Amino acid sequence: MLRPIAAAAFVLAIFGSSPTALAADAAFAKWLADLWPQAQALGVSRPVFDQATRGLEPDLTLPDLDIPGRAPTPQPEFVSTPAEYLAEGSFARLSVQGKKLAAEHAATLGAVERRFGVPAEVILAIWARETNYGAQKLPYNAVRVLATQGYVGRRREQFRQEFLLALKILQDGDIKLADMKSSWAGAMGLTQFLPTDFSKYAVDFDGDGRRDIWNSVPDALASTGSQLAGKGWQRGQRWAYEVQTPAGVDCTIGVPEVTKTLAEWRRLGFVPAHGRRLSARELDERASLLLPAGLYGPAFLTTKNYYVLKDYNFSDLYVLFVGHLADRIAGEPAFERPWGKVTQMKTAELERMQQILAERGFYGDKIDGKAGMLTRAALGKYQKANGLKVDCWPTTAVLDHMTRAR
Ligand code: CA
Repeated sequence: MLRPIAAAAFVLAIFGSSPTALAADAAFAKWLADLWPQAQALGVSRPVFDQATRGLEPDLTLPDLDIPGRAPTPQPEFVSTPAEYLAEGSFARLSVQGKKLAAEHAATLGAVERRFGVPAEVILAIWARETNYGAQKLPYNAVRVLATQGYVGRRREQFRQEFLLALKILQDGDIKLADMKSSWAGAMGLTQFLPTDFSKYAVDFDGDGRRDIWNSVPDALASTGSQLAGKGWQRGQRWAYEVQTPAGVDCTIGVPEVTKTLAEWRRLGFVPAHGRRLSARELDERASLLLPAGLYGPAFLTTKNYYVLKDYNFSDLYVLFVGHLADRIAGEPAFERPWGKVTQMKTAELERMQQILAERGFYGDKIDGKAGMLTRAALGKYQKANGLKVDCWPTTAVLDHMTRAR
């Protein structure tokens, strides 16, 4: 296998002045050829391996490659504010379309729910988020993308494995090489599976013997149900409850570790939005508090299923989008409390804030420049300890305070 340093050297060869692209191709060809024993161990035949790798070249136009001079590509889930990412216009449009598709695919969705316990609306919402119900075309070939990401991506080890599993999918005959479409990040088909998840969860639901998540809506929807069930989806449980918070709520308790039953939360003054009444079973469910915009927007009590969706995509905004769209397809109203107009700090500033919070003992998680729930709660603890307004929303004003106080 080519080591990262060698890969970097190859990239310099491409972008530098002297060596030719031919030498670079040779290095990539060697990297591919060296993967044969691992492909063989997975059950990939020589003809399938040769067909997929012959003449293959890395696609250096892909975003987010580990190439000197290129900055990481920001993910919309982490650079948008909640108000931007969770815009009402998207929900209005996608819920109308989702209701039509729910009727059109009622038989499939009903069968998926019976088998995997995941409601039709949640599956439709994932389909909407991932590929706009299939309208968003996937312009790349998965094998080329995964090979490129395995060779010069930011997570080479993971994508080398994904590439090998993609070959296994070809071997199994689920899809033809030319039809194996993906996003630039290698996510495949209508509901965007990486090969690892495909191997674990994809199912043939239309009975033609192939797991075709690219072209078969039943296969794609059932595979998504299978994946959520595999990640622990609880049948009959909501993903979250929007709540009105009591006056003077302490935002620092909005972390996954602080769980209470819905009955306990209600006693503490957290009242379900839209006058929702909770059943006896629901009152016994455990949930944690989520304040995606600190004090400046809706609050949610999140159940285990929230974390199942979060395991599908780590961003809280992604989960809120999918969960809320599912509710809207099911006919529920918009968020009761509007999203405030907060500003999203830049990644570098957030990293700086996380570093300072870590140095001062408020924060022990990743320094990743993302204002996730742990970062917001840690910030709230800092605000509390320093007599500042406790709102759990990162701003440059608080960062200035931190820097001045150093
Ligand atoms: Ca099928």
